[in-house]
Amino acid sequence: MKFIEALKLRSKLFFLFMLITMGLVLIGIMGYLNVNSMKKNLDSLYFGSLVPVTELNEILQIYHGSIANTIYKAKNTEISSSQTTSEIENALLKIEMQWRNYESHFKRDEELQYVQYTALEIKSTNEYFKKILNGVLSGHAIENISMESFEKQVEHIHATVKKLINYEVEIAKYERKKFLIIYEELIQNVGIILSIIILGVLVISYYVFKSIQNDHTRLEITTKKLRRANKKLENVSYTDALTSLHNRRYFNFVYDRELKRARRTNSYITFMMLDIDFFKQYNDTYGHIEGDIALKSVAKVLKDSLKRPSDFVFRLGGEEFGIILIDTDESNSARLARDISDAVRLREIKHESSKINEFLTISIGVVCCIADQALNEEILISRADEMLYKAKDNGRNGYVITTNVSDSIAHSSEKIRA
Ligand code: GH3
Ligand code: MG
Ligand code: MG
Repeated sequence: MKFIEALKLRSKLFFLFMLITMGLVLIGIMGYLNVNSMKKNLDSLYFGSLVPVTELNEILQIYHGSIANTIYKAKNTEISSSQTTSEIENALLKIEMQWRNYESHFKRDEELQYVQYTALEIKSTNEYFKKILNGVLSGHAIENISMESFEKQVEHIHATVKKLINYEVEIAKYERKKFLIIYEELIQNVGIILSIIILGVLVISYYVFKSIQNDHTRLEITTKKLRRANKKLENVSYTDALTSLHNRRYFNFVYDRELKRARRTNSYITFMMLDIDFFKQYNDTYGHIEGDIALKSVAKVLKDSLKRPSDFVFRLGGEEFGIILIDTDESNSARLARDISDAVRLREIKHESSKINEFLTISIGVVCCIADQALNEEILISRADEMLYKAKDNGRNGYVITTNVSDSIAHSSEKIRA
C-alpha cells in the first residue's frame, strides 16, 4: 500500500471517497440489470402465461356455459328462438374477441404450431355453431339438433383448448422457476459483491487511516524537532557567544517587559550599567585573547553575584554590562553594586597598566526607583550612563547610585563610593 502512503492527505480521502462511490455505482448497475431481467421475467410470466390462461378459460366457459346453456334451454323451449340466436351470436363474438386477445400476446416458437391448430379448431367449432344459428334464423326447429354431435363438438373444443391451457400453465411454472432462480442469483450476487466492496473499503480505509496516522505522527515528530530547533535558535539569538550571558537583543526584550511590569505594580526597578576600567590598556598589555578571557571572568563574577531568578545580567556590548533588578530598594541595590565591584577586584585579574589598582576593576552606574506611569523608558538608561561616567570621574573601581529619574539632574540624590 505504498501508493496510499505516497498520497497527500486530501488525495487519500478523495481516493477513499472515489472507491466508495465506485462500489455504490457498481451495486447500482448490477441491481438495475438484475431487476430489469426480473421485470422481463415477470412480464412474460404475467402476460405470456397468466393472462392467456384466463382468456382461454373464459373461452371454455363461454362454450360450456353460455352456448351449451342456451342450446339446452332452447331445446326445452325455455327461451324464444330470437333470444337463442342473440345469445349464441353474442357468445361467438365474445369467443372471437377473447381469442384475438389471446393471440396478441407473446408466443414462443414451440407453441405457435399448437396455437394455429387451436385457432382452426375454434374457427370450425364456431362455424358449427353459426350453422345452428343460421338454421334457427331460417326457422328450423332447435329440437332437430343432434345433441350427440353438439356434445361431441363441445368436448372436442374443450379438450383442444384445455391442452393449450395446460401448456400455458406449464410455461408459467417454468417462468416462475426461472424468476426464482434469477431472484436468488440476484440476492446472492448482491450479497457477494456487497461483501467484496465492504471488505475492500474496510481494507483500503484501514490503510488510508493508518497512513493518515503515520503522517500525523511524522508531523508531530517534525513539529517537536522544529520546536526544539526554534528554542535552540531563540537561545542562540538571545545569548552572547563569548560570555554566554544574555545579549543586547534579550536585554531590549527583558528591559521593556520588566519596566512595564514594575510600572503596573508600582514596584522598585534597578538598572546598573557596568564598564571595565582601562580595558583598552589591558588589551594593549596582554593582547586581545587575554582580554576575551578577562571578559569571560568578569561575566562569571557578575553571574555568580546575582542570586534571585528575577535578577538579569546582560553583555550590552564590548566590555560593558547591564543588570536589571526587580523589587530591590536603593540600599540593597547599592550593596549589590558594591559587592559586585569588590568581587571583580577580588577576582585578582592582573592589570599592570591600570592607573588605579594592580587588579582589574569595574565602574558601575546605578539608577533605582519606584516605577510609575510617568517613568520614561529612556531615562533609566541615560541616568545609569550618567552615573557610570560619574563613577569613572570619581576615580573608577566603584559605583554611583541615584534615585532621581526626573529629566533635570539633581546631584544631591547621588551617592558615590569610589
Ligand atoms: P575606561 O576605564 O574609561 O572605560 O577605559 P577603557 O580603556 O575601558 O575605555 P573604553 O571603555 O572606551 O574601552 C573599551 C575597550 O574595550 C576597547 C576595546 O579594546 C575593548 N574591547 C571591547 N570589546 C572587546 C572584546 O570583545 N574583547 C576584547 N578583548 N576587548 C574588547
Ligand atoms: Mg567602555
Ligand atoms: Mg572601559
